[in-house]
Amino acid sequence: MLIGADGAGSHLRAQLLPQARRVETGVVAVSAKLGLSNDVRQATPPPILRGPTLIFGPRGCFIFASTVDYEDKPPGGRQHYDHEKYVMWGFSAHNEVLDFPAKPASVGGQDAKAAVLAQMRDWHPVLRWLVQTADASTATAFAVKTSVPIQPWATQKVTLLGDALHNMTPIPLCGTPWRFVALSSLCPVAKPT
Ligand SMILES: Cc1cc2nc3c(=O)[nH]c(=O)nc-3n(C[C@H](O)[C@H](O)[C@H](O)COP(=O)(O)OP(=O)(O)OC[C@H]3O[C@@H](n4cnc5c(N)ncnc54)[C@H](O)[C@@H]3O)c2cc1C
Repeated sequence: MLIGADGAGSHLRAQLLPQARRVETGVVAVSAKLGLSNDVRQATPPPILRGPTLIFGPRGCFIFASTVDYEDKPPGGRQHYDHEKYVMWGFSAHNEVLDFPAKPASVGGQDAKAAVLAQMRDWHPVLRWLVQTADASTATAFAVKTSVPIQPWATQKVTLLGDALHNMTPIPLCGTPWRFVALSSLCPVAKPT
């Protein structure tokens, strides 16, 4: 059995289901990270330190922010795979609001941050600070895409999983859970015999 789990730009999907296209939603997003130093921990609003937080602003703009944090010494002494602690944010707006060039991915980190800050003049200072202080080298701009509905197809020994099968926009925050739902439904058929 061959399972394509190679993400939104899946090469396997392009061969198996060429009709399963991705289309732009008309929304563009910029995301970036700040290392979770003591200063950042103190300045970050507590809801963002506790988990994913959505904040809506004017002109259809919104920001999603969340913290990735780990205990330094996890119970049982097992080391985490990933040790990076950070606050991340993603700012989304209609294309015409951020007004990037045709390919947002070509916009540099500083320019992407500046474009976001220009839309946040009347936002709370601490949210502006999170954007201002983010590491520009982590800032990326991208066109938010989604999948077009397609007709059912006969599953055979080649199949797809996660974003390779159904590209989720980051906006409903459900891409990762759906990947696990799909994985659990494949387990019974993927067992070695
Ligand atoms: C900015 C942003 C924020 C998001 N936030 C959330 C959120 O808060 N909650 C949520 O649930 N979802 C979120 N999502 C969506 C979520 O990230 C995806 O739905 C999820 O990662 C899909 O998992 P996947 O394993 O299918 O694909 P991916 O995570 O994209 O993994 C595919 C892997 O395949 C590898 N790969 C590709 N081609 C090859 C190849 N030829 N050979 C070997 N390896 C290959 C890639 O390097 C990658 O590691 C977000 C997405 C974005 C872009």
